[in-house]
Amino acid sequence: MHYFDHAATHPLSEVARAAWLDAATRFPANPSSLHRLGARADRALEGARARLAAMLGCSPGEVIFTSGATESNNLMVHHLAHALTGTVLVSSLEHPSVLEPTRHELAERRQLIPATPAGVVDLPWLENRLRTRPPAAVLLMAANNETGVLQPWREVAARCREHGVWFGCDAAQWLGKLPAAGLGACAFLTGCAHKFGGPPGVGFLKGPTTLRPLLRGGPQEDRRRAGTQNLPGILAMVASLEARERELAVGGAEQRIVWRDRFVARVQQALPGTELLGADAPRLWNTVSLQLPPRADGRRWVVALDRLGFAVASGSACSSGRDVPSHVLEAMGRSRDNADRVVRFSSGWETPESAWEVLIRKGVSS
Ligand code: PLP
Repeated sequence: MHYFDHAATHPLSEVARAAWLDAATRFPANPSSLHRLGARADRALEGARARLAAMLGCSPGEVIFTSGATESNNLMVHHLAHALTGTVLVSSLEHPSVLEPTRHELAERRQLIPATPAGVVDLPWLENRLRTRPPAAVLLMAANNETGVLQPWREVAARCREHGVWFGCDAAQWLGKLPAAGLGACAFLTGCAHKFGGPPGVGFLKGPTTLRPLLRGGPQEDRRRAGTQNLPGILAMVASLEARERELAVGGAEQRIVWRDRFVARVQQALPGTELLGADAPRLWNTVSLQLPPRADGRRWVVALDRLGFAVASGSACSSGRDVPSHVLEAMGRSRDNADRVVRFSSGWETPESAWEVLIRKGVSS
């Protein structure tokens, strides 16, 4: 099977596997235990926190380890809902783990920020809103999980600082694919390991030291997140992110943008009528979201490609037997009718250029 669904989960990297096994062997104890083995595990935990904070550019005390980005986003929203009064502006392109808790916890206090047809948050709209009626907080992801479109998080973070507004950023798709530097300046930042080759079930939140906990019942993480830390997972996450940062520093992303664009051009040549979502915006090197023409055999693209040996993702959700476009496609103003023809292809660090080639020859154009 050729795997083109790394935006859902990136398979475990060799670096992460080695770090996980090493940690599971060397640190068998609970980091909260008072004996020397516990203290040794705690030192490893705090070392990982300091290494992650150094990559993000924040202080280790601001980093909390969690079970993944869904938990981190829920924790961020939970804190904002209780710590702030006033409106929270939330981008309409966010992942459901931001949209659902904000709808639930903020109700009328949530206002969605519109997006442009290119799949970018409407920056002029947001800047005007910040000037005329500053909200209590703004939430915007760094890169979109369905289209790969990069969001202007740096600009929004700067505007929010100018206006004294809290800014929270879900960087789950950005981290490990683009440099982490600068992200730590966001008041809240969330991410998870399994998008860049770390293990699933581990992530982090960078936030204030006064964070209001969602999980209670233990002193861990300075009482901001109860529950025994997943130490092997945390060490594997940090090691994997460090390795990605090193690959980025030697130009790993630039080369892969060329492969991505070559793939898109070849598909558009083979299948006239193919449309690239977010074509007018900067995008992640690994994610391509295409609206393909209908298949002659009437099959759904995702099903047909699966049979041909390619794992890809769909741009629609099947609801009561009907395809409905994702909220992201809707926010971009796209018609519901073509939702089942939107396919997301997402590569990983270990995907060679030849795999894109095989995808064209044996998948998309067959
Ligand atoms: N945020 C974004 C942008 C994502 O792409 C995902 C995963 O798909 C999540 C949050 C949720 O991450 P996790 O699987 O770690 O809960």
